Amino acid sequence: MTVTAMEGIRPMATEQIAAPINAWDVAQRQFDLAAEHLKLSPGLCKVLREPKRELTVHFPVKMDDGSVQVFTGYRVQHNLSRGPAKGGIRYHQDVTLDEVKALAMWMTWKCAVVGIPFGGGKGGVIVDPKKLSLREIEGLTRRFATEISIIIGPEKDIPAPDVNTNAQTMAWIMDTYSMHVGYTSPAVVTGKPIPLGGSEGRNEATAQGAVYTLMDAARHLGMDLPKCRVAVQGFGNAGAIAAQLMAAQGSTIVAVSDSTGGIYKPEGFDPSAVLAWKQEHHSVRGFPGTRDISNEELLEVDCDVLIPAALENQITARNAGRIKARLIGEAANGPTTPEADEILYKNGKFVIPDILCNAGGVTVSYFEWVQDLDRDFWSIDHVNEKLRAVMTKAFASTLDMSLKEKVNMRTAAYLLAVQRVADATSVRGLYP
Ligand code: NAD
Repeated sequence: MTVTAMEGIRPMATEQIAAPINAWDVAQRQFDLAAEHLKLSPGLCKVLREPKRELTVHFPVKMDDGSVQVFTGYRVQHNLSRGPAKGGIRYHQDVTLDEVKALAMWMTWKCAVVGIPFGGGKGGVIVDPKKLSLREIEGLTRRFATEISIIIGPEKDIPAPDVNTNAQTMAWIMDTYSMHVGYTSPAVVTGKPIPLGGSEGRNEATAQGAVYTLMDAARHLGMDLPKCRVAVQGFGNAGAIAAQLMAAQGSTIVAVSDSTGGIYKPEGFDPSAVLAWKQEHHSVRGFPGTRDISNEELLEVDCDVLIPAALENQITARNAGRIKARLIGEAANGPTTPEADEILYKNGKFVIPDILCNAGGVTVSYFEWVQDLDRDFWSIDHVNEKLRAVMTKAFASTLDMSLKEKVNMRTAAYLLAVQRVADATSVRGLYP
């Protein structure tokens, strides 16, 4: 018997059914809070509250069995006042236009908070890439790159990896774009393989930047990071590398998870061994010596530092009150809802907001773009020294703003970022 998706859902008591949280709604509410605090003019608010461009594409891909499937993808540019659009491309079965709009808006604020000259963009394709062969993913990527090539380019909009995309995906996009324009254009994407003009340190940059902000936060809070127990949700580019870097500086990793669930061991484990296990078994679960836990349990385990590094809306009003970690570093974009933010703040939790915590990725992407345009490539030490300087300065300015305005770190980061984008938008004036 075929069980449909609806039949497969266990019925819930009416009072338990909560409306799904819409990331775009969250992003606009976060913006509204900052705009009100900054007393932005109503006209400027209207401009900054919406994306400049939203491109939806439906495109065919020939599958390995000879059939044709049509996929839907998006590329959104939120605000370009400070420079070309910058932001990742995500492949996930739950991608929506609203999610991509939220991610694009967050990119605008992120670039502004770390002071790099980009606007915000983001892309996504509705697909579960785990169900496709490598050849099908390449075909999908090349056709999607072709469809969005009307708005991307080194001076216009520069994609990068995000959930379920990586350096190989960027290589295909770079090659496809280069074939169309008739010359090699490395600066059209970042997060590329090093032989194509990728930057040293880009693969680790999101996690490295997050760890720099965690170090600064720990110093501010008087926490000794090497003595801290750390839980990480999401075990991909951001999460697995963050776990490894935290372990390398002495912290104890007590829990990690991926889309299949999590593992927990209060005495700690080696995240590099878990990564090797995951590569073989396609899941962190079952790693010897650990207990399997759910993703919900992971967020609430007894630990000092929590690093959400998966998807949006993980910390909500339902579980925020049960979070034990004192310090939360948002390696993921949008993991915390506004209601949860309030609960965490009241409970004395220190949240390093996504637009600051995970900005190391776009910062080294900016370094990569500069290196590509200059045809002059930097050492890993130079990249990390510059990354450290950018992250430390952004953290210090956000903390100063938070203390001065008596607001949480997210609102403080928004006040800095939105003001910078508002200034750039105003001084450029309204065309025509
Ligand atoms: P990735 O595809 O490399 O890894 C994602 C990980 O999350 C995987 O381990 C996956 O199994 C896990 N996951 C998926 N759904 C989950 C769920 N419901 N619960 C727990 N784990 C789940 O992606 P990534 O690049 O590491 O991105 C992770 C987050 O970091 C995203 O929010 C992304 O936007 C953000 N981010 C990434 C970068 C970057 O440079 N890659 C930069 C800034 C922010």
